Amino acid sequence: MTTENMYPVDSTYHACCNAIGQHARNCKTCVPLPPGAIADIWEGDSDSPYRIVSTPNYAVTDHELLAWADAEQRIDGSLGNARVRIDIEWSGAGLNSDQCRELSSHLLELAVVLDKWTGAR
Ligand SMILES: [Zn+2]
Repeated sequence: MTTENMYPVDSTYHACCNAIGQHARNCKTCVPLPPGAIADIWEGDSDSPYRIVSTPNYAVTDHELLAWADAEQRIDGSLGNARVRIDIEWSGAGLNSDQCRELSSHLLELAVVLDKWTGAR
C-alpha cells in the first residue's frame, strides 16, 4: 500500500536552531548582513549574542597598511560601534603620494559604507 501525503508539511530540519520547518525566532542564521559585510562567528552568551561584521580589507599598493570597517551586530540585526579601522604597523616606510591617494580613496569609500550601515546618509 502506498501512502500519499495529502497534507504536505515543511519538515526541513534546521540544525542551526534545532527547529523543524521554520527557523526558531532567535535563530542566528537569518540575521541579515549589512551591505557589503562579511560575518565572523557569533560570540557572547545566549542572552546577548553578537558577531563582528566587517568589510573586506582595503590594501594599499606596496604597503602593509590595511583599512576596513567593522561593527558589532546583535541578534536583532542592529549594529553597534560601527567604525572604520586602519591597521598600520610601524615600518618606517611611510606613504608616498600615490599611496596617500589610494588610502584616501579607500577611506572615502569606507565612510560611505559606514553611513549605509548606520543610516547616517
Ligand atoms: Zn535556524
